[in-house]
Amino acid sequence: MGWLTARDVLTFDLPERATLERFHAPGYVAALEQAVDGRQVTAAERAEFGFGTMENPVFPGLFDRARATVGGSIAAANAALGGAVAFHPAGGTHHGRPGRASGFCYFNDPAFAIATFLDAEAAPVLYLDLDAHHGDGVEALFADDARVTLISIHEQGRWPHTADRPGEGPANAINIPVPRGFTDDELMWLIDACEENVVARVKPSAIVVTAGADCLRGDPLSAMEVSNRAWWRAVARAVEWAPHAVVVGGGGYNPWTVARGWAGLWAVLAGRDANSPLTPRAARILAGFSSDLVDEDEIEGEWLSAIADAPRPGGIREAVKQAAHLALRKRIFRLA
Ligand SMILES: [Zn+2]
Repeated sequence: MGWLTARDVLTFDLPERATLERFHAPGYVAALEQAVDGRQVTAAERAEFGFGTMENPVFPGLFDRARATVGGSIAAANAALGGAVAFHPAGGTHHGRPGRASGFCYFNDPAFAIATFLDAEAAPVLYLDLDAHHGDGVEALFADDARVTLISIHEQGRWPHTADRPGEGPANAINIPVPRGFTDDELMWLIDACEENVVARVKPSAIVVTAGADCLRGDPLSAMEVSNRAWWRAVARAVEWAPHAVVVGGGGYNPWTVARGWAGLWAVLAGRDANSPLTPRAARILAGFSSDLVDEDEIEGEWLSAIADAPRPGGIREAVKQAAHLALRKRIFRLA
């Protein structure tokens, strides 16, 4: 879209093993590093570390790709401490476990962004996870750490099934599972509810937002109906909740909705106009996509003709209000 200039791009060094070992077991880090191009992953490694599977494949450049998620999140948090709102779309690997790959996540980069804030005494930290799937790995790493409050809005009944019941989880986690067909109105209602009831109490010094694009309408691995416009509005609100803000990516399995979603999110965060007409180059890129997960007759016109989706207000269902009440009453609260 011609939005990005060299000034907007931050580069960083790939983190060394010692950095990765802050949250990840040395044996796991070493095994991942050695799982080089084409080498057969042993049955023992697959069982112990969870990689070399369909879910967590080993591919050329894997180790650098995985540790770039971590380096990017650390660099983003440092930039945020310097006053920027930093967006790291390749981050958001929120399922990563200390000694195990999970759900396409090899390391847990949001944890490193949170830790960078904690190291700088920018606490308390709020973690907001808008990916369609529960942020189980981040939750496990900061469970009961009073300096961190975790909010996850995700689709009920989806993998990893770790917070299918509202309010489930450790004391510092506010888990709000939502039913299929989650709408723009429901997302904004929950953002208001979290702002009034959580942000006002916690008064975070820093926020990390996992903006998984799999909550957008059209994603083949979820059944949420959120338009990218509402989602941008939600993230733009969240980054105002604290003086220091990092936004990372997350899941996303429809190339059209992912590319438009993250491009537009970057535009909104950087003060560009996400409603500007597609450039010829952007139109060519969108027309050139294909996906095994999206049938040709499911491709919607707006996926090829604009960055922004049409709004999908949709109303607010009782089940969503109920989930919020159950999740929020754990800590506080009063809801309109
Ligand atoms: Zn996801």
